[in-house]
Amino acid sequence: MTDVAGVLAPAVRWQNATITRRVMQTPEITSFFVRPDRPFTWRAGQHVDIRLTAEDGYRAIRSYSIASLPGADDELELAVERLADGEVSLWFHDVAQVGDVVEIKGPLGGHFVWEPEDGGPILLIGGGSGLVPLMAIARRGAEAAARVPMHLLLSARSPQDVLYREELEALERQNDRFGMTLALTRASAWRPQDFSRRIDDEILARVLKRLPAWPKRVFVCGTNGFVNAAADGAQAAGVAAEIIRTERYGGL
Ligand SMILES: Cc1cc2nc3c(=O)[nH]c(=O)nc-3n(C[C@H](O)[C@H](O)[C@H](O)COP(=O)(O)OP(=O)(O)OC[C@H]3O[C@@H](n4cnc5c(N)ncnc54)[C@H](O)[C@@H]3O)c2cc1C
Repeated sequence: MTDVAGVLAPAVRWQNATITRRVMQTPEITSFFVRPDRPFTWRAGQHVDIRLTAEDGYRAIRSYSIASLPGADDELELAVERLADGEVSLWFHDVAQVGDVVEIKGPLGGHFVWEPEDGGPILLIGGGSGLVPLMAIARRGAEAAARVPMHLLLSARSPQDVLYREELEALERQNDRFGMTLALTRASAWRPQDFSRRIDDEILARVLKRLPAWPKRVFVCGTNGFVNAAADGAQAAGVAAEIIRTERYGGL
């Protein structure tokens, strides 16, 4: 496998990674920074698999998107949402400590990725922790010399639940090619460009007009129900199915 810079990356196989930091991002989402024993490069939008093994040999494997900017350093940022009845997400939130070792495999996924040479404009649509791979794409877009126009339509319950809110607002202020629309489902919008309801066809039609031209690609990520609603809404607003890329986290 060859990475974006043309450097040989290790084959995808299980290896150990050490948790180096944990940073609470929202009441439900915490970032876990992990350092693999054999560092690898990745593309914005890719994910890793995490494998936990209990003392009795029981194993659980789950996928987590990589939030960090490709090539930033040897640490990967995984932002894990706490599911009250979840298995692996609860282990991360309630048990995992800095210094713990997990098994990791990656980078994985070649469909839900974006490189600056892919061009734009790009529409990113995320629900809750579905922002994670989109954040890697937004961070990549912000550093890319091409300065591709991107717009993020993000659904969250309240302002406190907007993952990476400060960074996204700063990106919006500093980069005239990056815009953000929030759809808050359980709070009032405090910015005139935002909405206080679930993403629907009308919101999608209005957001599409906030890009300087029709999008070249639309990335949608979240639960199954969210992805279905957002992808259907984008198509109802005239977006061709072929340019829509989806990533599903499971759940309703
Ligand atoms: C490509 C990809 C990337 C992902 N990236 C992220 C990410 O960046 N951040 C993130 O937080 N998540 C991400 N996910 C989701 C993640 O992989 C896990 O699914 C999530 O963390 C829940 O795992 P869990 O072990 O905590 O919950 P699980 O134990 O898997 O439970 C999940 C839900 O299923 C229900 N459930 C479990 N077992 C059953 C059963 N037998 N019958 C019926 N219902 C059941 C539970 O009640 C719960 O509501 C990603 C998923 C994919 C596919």
